[in-house]
Amino acid sequence: MSAFRLDGQTALVTGANTGIGQAIAIALGRAGAHVICAGRSACDETASKIDSAETLHLDFADPMAAQGIFADRRVDVLVNNAGIIRREDSADFGEADWDAVMDVNVKALFFTSQAFGKAVLAQGRTGQIVNIASLLSFQGGIRVPSYTASKHGVVGVTKILANEWAAKGINVNAIAPGYIETNNTDALRADPDRNKAILDRIPAGRWGQPDDIAEAAVFLAAPASRYIHGTVLNVDGGWLAR
Ligand code: NAP
Repeated sequence: MSAFRLDGQTALVTGANTGIGQAIAIALGRAGAHVICAGRSACDETASKIDSAETLHLDFADPMAAQGIFADRRVDVLVNNAGIIRREDSADFGEADWDAVMDVNVKALFFTSQAFGKAVLAQGRTGQIVNIASLLSFQGGIRVPSYTASKHGVVGVTKILANEWAAKGINVNAIAPGYIETNNTDALRADPDRNKAILDRIPAGRWGQPDDIAEAAVFLAAPASRYIHGTVLNVDGGWLAR
């Protein structure tokens, strides 16, 4: 099982205070990693559940906020999880909501990856990047135009970085979560019609839990995935197979 372990490695997870990011941080810790729990909200609760962890304030209100954080510390695994969603009919969708979502979901993801990759390459090490994409990396969705555009962008960024860095020892991959019970999807579960429509279409017959994503992230962070580059792993209860 050592190919699935992360002993001696340091992983940084963005948006680690809650939801999918919290579950990923805890699972990486269980796999043996030292985990840097990064977020704009305090990540102390997450860190308290991990044997070896620290917290880092990181707010992508400035999408360049991660510049410099990799220069003076060794990080082997970067999980770009932080993300936001804004819901409004496309006919009425405003520029501020467009920019806010694109800044956090794809601009910050690219420039954080760039900063990580530069440091790994400069230090002559290997690294793993796991990006959190979405079903809306492949589908259009409803009333979430900037989210859909941003998550399509996440897959594009995953592939270009994989193309450029695979031969240099950095694996870049993504996970496309299905419908997972977190703050991000509260509005959908609160709408009985949408909730039923979603549940009826999921072959597994249930909403996903953050832990369902977490073990997939450990796999993509671990040596077991050494020959996997530019892949998007769907963890969606079968949604995209339907
Ligand atoms: P969540 O509970 O709302 O978590 C989102 C995380 O992103 C939080 O930690 C949040 O911090 C952080 N974040 C938001 N804006 C930030 C900023 N400016 N700077 C730094 N961190 C920021 O939702 P989630 O479902 O766990 O989402 C995690 C990722 O999974 C997102 O990329 C989301 O798009 C993706 N995803 C979720 C689902 C789903 O069904 N839930 C499906 C597909 C993809 P705060 O707590 O401080 O806001």
